[in-house]
Amino acid sequence: MNVLKQVTQISHLRDARKRLPEPVGFVPTMGYLHAGHLSLVKRAREEAASVVVSIFVNPTQFAPTDDLEAYPRDLERDTALLQEAGVDLLWLPTPEVMYPPDFQTWVNVESLTQPLEGTKRPGHFRGVTTVVTKLFNAVQPQMAFFGQKDAQQAAVIRQMVKDLNMPIEIFVEPIVREPDGLAMSSRNTYLNPKERQAALCLYRALEAAQTTYQAGQTNAESLRETMRTIIHAEPLAELEYVSCADYDTLVELETVKGKSLLSMAVRIGKTRLIDNHVLEAV
Ligand code: AMP
Repeated sequence: MNVLKQVTQISHLRDARKRLPEPVGFVPTMGYLHAGHLSLVKRAREEAASVVVSIFVNPTQFAPTDDLEAYPRDLERDTALLQEAGVDLLWLPTPEVMYPPDFQTWVNVESLTQPLEGTKRPGHFRGVTTVVTKLFNAVQPQMAFFGQKDAQQAAVIRQMVKDLNMPIEIFVEPIVREPDGLAMSSRNTYLNPKERQAALCLYRALEAAQTTYQAGQTNAESLRETMRTIIHAEPLAELEYVSCADYDTLVELETVKGKSLLSMAVRIGKTRLIDNHVLEAV
């Protein structure tokens, strides 16, 4: 089995990176790893000759009211999982490494970051695209792996890579779920048992809308209404948004024609959850 080398400083990362067999696959994470993250690592192992993972809870993508301080961390467990998964190099930058005091350059994708998460988390994607650019520049992978769980993030990264001519192939991997349907997320650990049960309403709502679509309903507002009704029926759930949008542009649809994205953000108690289903063209 590969020995998992760990580095923090960018110079050490570059030295270790130089010695890795090409092509290099990269999986950026915020840690507290679960089977969703590990599915990205597994795919990277299949596609690339070596795999680099980063764990960095990026402060610039959190609003002051978000859960930056509370965000769950367990480096010992993460390291063991990555070692077992056959990762070659683990980069653990600190906030000081990523954002020295004179830091002043930002990457911003314009239209795609406006709807959905953009309406509820202003500035979030600017933090994401800036940190992913910095991670890409340091690691210089040929391939990078993201989860469909964060559908808008994946779309934004794809756009950024295209717009800025980054020579990196982006892979977007399916959502990994718990046996009862809840999308895996590091934030699920915040849920108490009642909230954990209530959190199933996201999956139920998406499934119901998808079933309705498959039965012939192509009116997007009707699909949104199906999802709203199910979320509103759950007393512990507070709906932030539901969407039925074009898969590529994320613009809300009137009629579902081609590949589309059903998505939502819901608060269960203090915990904010997102989930989505892709509707394939019929
Ligand atoms: P995070 O640590 O939450 O920033 O996630 C790191 C990467 O893992 C992102 O590309 C996420 O989209 C992906 N990811 C998170 N949860 C899942 C999941 N349940 N299934 C697949 N990928 C996921």
